[in-house]
Formats: sequence, structure tokens, C-alpha cells
Amino acid sequence: MEFLAIITLLFLVLGASLYLLVCVDPNSPGLLGKMNRLVFNTIPVIFKKILGERIFKIFQGAIDYFFYSNHPLVQIFYVIVAVGGYLVYVYFGFLELFDDNLYVSHLDTAIGSTMALFCFYSFFQACRYKPGIITKENNKVYQNEFKEYYDNVVYLKDNQCKTCNIIKPARSKHCRVCNVCVSRFDHHCVWIRQCVGQKNYKYFVKFIITHAILCDYGAYLGFRCIWGIIVQERLLQAQFRDPVTKQRLQATWGIIIKYLFYKNTMYIFIVILCVVMGIALTCFALYHLYMIGQDTTTNERMKRSDFLNFFDEETERLEKQLKKAENEEEIKEVSSKLEQVKSCQKRIIPIKNIGIWNGLKRVFSEPDELGQKFQNKKKQ
Ligand SMILES: [Zn+2]
Ligand SMILES: [Zn+2]
Repeated sequence: MEFLAIITLLFLVLGASLYLLVCVDPNSPGLLGKMNRLVFNTIPVIFKKILGERIFKIFQGAIDYFFYSNHPLVQIFYVIVAVGGYLVYVYFGFLELFDDNLYVSHLDTAIGSTMALFCFYSFFQACRYKPGIITKENNKVYQNEFKEYYDNVVYLKDNQCKTCNIIKPARSKHCRVCNVCVSRFDHHCVWIRQCVGQKNYKYFVKFIITHAILCDYGAYLGFRCIWGIIVQERLLQAQFRDPVTKQRLQATWGIIIKYLFYKNTMYIFIVILCVVMGIALTCFALYHLYMIGQDTTTNERMKRSDFLNFFDEETERLEKQLKKAENEEEIKEVSSKLEQVKSCQKRIIPIKNIGIWNGLKRVFSEPDELGQKFQNKKKQ
């Protein structure tokens, strides 16, 4: 079962990383652009050679469907895991183990269930509110909102999105899965089946923070409940009989854990899932809080570091070339290139540290895209 939990976590981490990689521009310089080209261009070519044309087509179709189409599979998976996990917790934990356990009470049942309801509601909201889709009508508004971000390096002025036929505002990105340009694009989230952007970022943050708290609380309750069983059944003083040798053994932690797992498999599995997901979601929530404090997005961080790494590599390469330069003309040419690279690097707007509290105020004061549409409709 621990093995299953580790596999689930690895699967989630791998899936999430691949999805983030889908968001990276394959033409961007630096490591992430290279990784995107490796995963989505080079590896498929190798697979094509190994698998043959026909099987590869099926494989490619599955990859395209999973990564590039807007399917509900992951949303369905969320509902099964979240609602199913909660029901398992209720049945094996709240109803079975919590009844005569001195270390947990039904106050915990009430708190846990309320938290779960908050989580399901936050998922519904995160799926419902749109991220800030850029259209021809609102194009100018979004351009003006972020005009101080045009540095002509990371964000170019008058850069057009050929698919949407609009001028890309700074901080926006065209999502290949949703096939729209999104303002202040963070990433495409498969769990909510849409992009996370300027207008729905607050709902996304709420979604991950409530889930992180629920999983952490589930894990904490799990440990309290299991500790209750250990104390009330006096497992630390107990003697166990070896099923093979029939020998009486003094309890060790290893034996106790095996015994508890054998007796409460489903409950302990759910607690392990809470621990694993709690750690992953808490890290993810903290990472987003950190980005909120820096007024930046996942996409922006990737893009920035890509450009900075590229400029660092170029500077190093040109400085080496300058040292080896043999004549005046070559020195002049390399020096001018070096100057250009350095001036580009300087133009990149530095990260603004606005603090988490101010950042949260900014994120949560953003009006809903859905609400605006409602207001417009009412005015008409
Ligand atoms: Zn677009
Ligand atoms: Zn998207």
C-alpha cells in the first residue's frame, strides 16, 4: 500500500511536470525550451522508429488527446479520488474507529466534514470562473493594464497571436490546450480543465490551500486516531504470536505497524494518501504564496529564468571568444555582441517583492470574469 501511495505520488508529479512543460514555448531559449523539444519532438521521433508507423499513430493520438485536448478525464479522476477518499475516511474512520477512541472525537468529524465541503466548493468555483480570456473587444484593456511590463526582451510590444489574431498583452500567453490567449497566464491546470490566469487565480489559490489544509488535517487526525488505538489496546506492552513459528514476540514498532495495517488497511491507506498529498499540496500552496509575494506567475518565472540562463551562457561564450580574439576587427565585433547581450539582460524587469499580504490583497481584489459578463448583460 505504501508502494501504491509512492506510485500515485510519482505519477502525479510526473504528470504535473509534463503538463507544465506543455505550457513552455518550444522556441524559447534555455533549458525549459530544450526540455520541451526533447519530450515533445525528439522522444516521439525515437518512439516512431521503435514502434513503427501504425502503433506510433495510436500512441501519438493518445498523447495529443491527453496533453493537447481539453478532456474531462482528470476532473473525473479528481471527483473519484476526492469524494471517494472522503467517503472512505467517513466509513472506516469517523464511523468505525472514532467512536470509542479517546484521542479523537466527533468534533473532528464535524471539522473534517466542513473542510471537505469547503474543498468541493472551491473545486467547483475554480472550474467555473474563467481565467481572463483575451478577445478583440477587451484586447486594449489588458494591454494597458500591463503596459509597464514591455521590456522588449521577455515581452515584446505589438507581438501578435496568430491564432487569436490579437496583440499579445505583456504577461499573457496563448494556451495550446484551451486555444485562447489568457491574461497574466500562470499555467494550464488539468484538474480544473482550464487555464489559471489573472481573473481566476484567487479561486485556484483557494482550491490548493483548502485541499492542502484538508489533507494535512486528515493526516494529523489519522496519527491521533492510530495513537489512540496503540494506547487503548496497550499495543506497546502486548505480545504477538508469530504465525509461522508460533513463537511469542515482544511488540516492536515494526510488528505494531504491520498489525495496525492488517487490521485497518483501508483507513491507513487513506491516511498515507493524506500524508503524501498533504506534503505535495502544502509545498505547492507555499510556492504559490511565495510567487504572490513576488507578484509573479509560474509562466513568468520559467520564462525569466530561461532568458537569464540564455544570456548568462551567451555572456560566458562571448567572453571566452573575446579572450581568444586574434585581431582588432574580431575584438570589436565580439565586444559589440557582448554589449548587446548585457543590455538585453539589464532590460529584463526585476522581480518586485511586494510581500505576501499585499500580494494576496491584490489577487483577491481582482473582479471575476463571470461577474463582469453578468453586469454587461444586465446593462444591455
Ligand atoms: Zn492566442
Ligand atoms: Zn489552458
